[in-house]
Amino acid sequence: MTDANRYVIDAPEIPAVPVRGGGRFPVRRIYCVGRNYAEHAREMGSDPDREPPFFFSKPADTVVSGGVVPYPPATGELHHEVELVIAIGKAGREIPADTALEYAYGYAVGVDLTRRDLQAAAKKKGRPWDMAKGFDRSAPLSKIVPAALIGHPADGAIRLSVNNDVKQSGDLRQMIWNTAEVIAELSRYVGLAAGDLIFSGTPSGVGPLQPGDTVRASVFGVADLEFVLTG
Ligand code: MN
Repeated sequence: MTDANRYVIDAPEIPAVPVRGGGRFPVRRIYCVGRNYAEHAREMGSDPDREPPFFFSKPADTVVSGGVVPYPPATGELHHEVELVIAIGKAGREIPADTALEYAYGYAVGVDLTRRDLQAAAKKKGRPWDMAKGFDRSAPLSKIVPAALIGHPADGAIRLSVNNDVKQSGDLRQMIWNTAEVIAELSRYVGLAAGDLIFSGTPSGVGPLQPGDTVRASVFGVADLEFVLTG
């Protein structure tokens, strides 16, 4: 390598998620849909009209493959949000909804961990959500399951339990914007590329987690995820 191309510090590792059937999916960016289930919009005090979805993001290296997740600092109100996650397999921009599923390599179940107290304070002051949403290991994720194995899920139970108590129980059919529409809408704002993950929103029943809790999340027919919060 010529001197000009030499990294002056150790290059960070590319975050990656295991894939069912073998191999790893390298993560480029993580986007999240702000609210995509009417009941959850209501529980957060919003009107669930079919306004265009809005997006925020988490850093790519917030992804963690279950196991053990540390309770994050600077919060007294860590919340769970179970979500179907779309793994993008090829680049595109201004993608029409009727071809958008061609861009989905596969799917996973993820938990959009949220420092709800920081989010509420940010909302009140009109400030960004980054510190509420994008903290270290805030994106626990199952294996990614290729669409080649399971197709493109449009319905099926989406659930999350804490210590075996079911806290969130919905169905993918309740998404205000379906998978294809989410991909199409996001691609109006940013170029999507292979390696992008899109958390597609959470059903109602979000709530607090405590150190020591065991969290199990699933999307029927897609994947399961389990992690334990440590203190
Ligand atoms: Mn979410």
